[in-house]
Amino acid sequence: MEKIRTLRGFRDIFGEEMEKFRIIEDTSRHYFKLLGFNEIEIPALEKTELFTRSIGDATDIVEKEMFTFVDAGGDSLTLRPEATAGVVRFYLQEGMYVKERVSKLFTIGSMFRHERPQKGRFRQFHQIDVEVFGVSDPFIDAELLWLISLILDKLMLEGYSIEVNSVGCRVCRNGFRDKVVAYFETKRDMLCEDCLRRLERSPLRIFDCKKEGCIKATEESPFLFDSLCKDCNEHFDSFLDYLGQFKIKATLNKRLVRGLDYYTKTVFEVTSENLGAQKAFIAGGRYDNLVEEMGGPPIPGIGFAIGVERLSLITSARRPSEVPLTYLAYLGKDAKRYIVPILERFVSSGYRLFYSYEEKSLKSQMRYADSLNAEFVLILGEDEIKKNLIILRSMRGKWQKEVPLNPDSILKEVISSTL
Ligand SMILES: [Zn+2]
Ligand SMILES: [Zn+2]
Repeated sequence: MEKIRTLRGFRDIFGEEMEKFRIIEDTSRHYFKLLGFNEIEIPALEKTELFTRSIGDATDIVEKEMFTFVDAGGDSLTLRPEATAGVVRFYLQEGMYVKERVSKLFTIGSMFRHERPQKGRFRQFHQIDVEVFGVSDPFIDAELLWLISLILDKLMLEGYSIEVNSVGCRVCRNGFRDKVVAYFETKRDMLCEDCLRRLERSPLRIFDCKKEGCIKATEESPFLFDSLCKDCNEHFDSFLDYLGQFKIKATLNKRLVRGLDYYTKTVFEVTSENLGAQKAFIAGGRYDNLVEEMGGPPIPGIGFAIGVERLSLITSARRPSEVPLTYLAYLGKDAKRYIVPILERFVSSGYRLFYSYEEKSLKSQMRYADSLNAEFVLILGEDEIKKNLIILRSMRGKWQKEVPLNPDSILKEVISSTL
């Protein structure tokens, strides 16, 4: 019979990669808690309208990348392509703005986009998502970038850069629209099909296109950044000042617009040259009108998302102080009876003891211990039981010694050999 396999663009995560995911999550959680963020979990499935209204129906995500279907009840449902829309829905539904002046939230989970699968890009992928509601002061914009740098430094990530820009507010954007449309009208022959459509509906997103011709077309274009209104200019200047106070280095990239309609003022991306053409692995920005547009009061917001798959490709992080692994090789039924007391003693003290479940030859058990990268092997056979001792062998130090056969002595010997 033919075996059933995962869907195209979907995959299993296990082994070393799973461990990396956990390290990334645990490190992030650690700093989120220190900075007063609360964790929430929101559904992966929502009404389609939530995403078309928030993300904008002229965006790539909504136009071609959503997993949308009609359920048995006739409702159009969508697997979330990003987290912000759902977090805003939660914020409004729970009336969080009545309960607290500032809401700092984070959520970790799977997102779904019907994209062409490519390196580091999957149809189900993982994001660590952070959102802050109720702060218009750009101090929080800088604080979020500092938070990101704390996490990346802890993950020992080098060679990343932070790019920032301002995409302004309705006031400066309205004034700029005509300018940019007039410019791109003269470059029509260079634009791809998608960008020709964008020119009618949301011309700013032409800057987001990765096609060569379109990038060339933007070369002499006016930038929104140079047409910011007074308020947006001041906001950006003080954002840079706060970044300086946090000692965060960032580069201004006037081309940076982000692919979603809801952003206002500050936008940013964290990129790594080790990721190839699509080098961003963290992206975010401010969305001061989104809560209101979703039917709530005018409350500003800002957030970012970490692409876990992409970050795990470039981090070399390992658990800092992993306890040594001890492998118990036993020969015979009598010897097997010693597993439980030794295991209990090890685990209750936070030490790891592995063993094989079925009886195997000593040679096979040693090979297994080696493949597990065990630091120590305990060897227990009939002879040792008779003499009431066990052999402790160091796999790295290449020595072995006899230790009294009781759990306390064994653990004590392992601990003192580790130090
Ligand atoms: Zn403005
Ligand atoms: Zn294009």
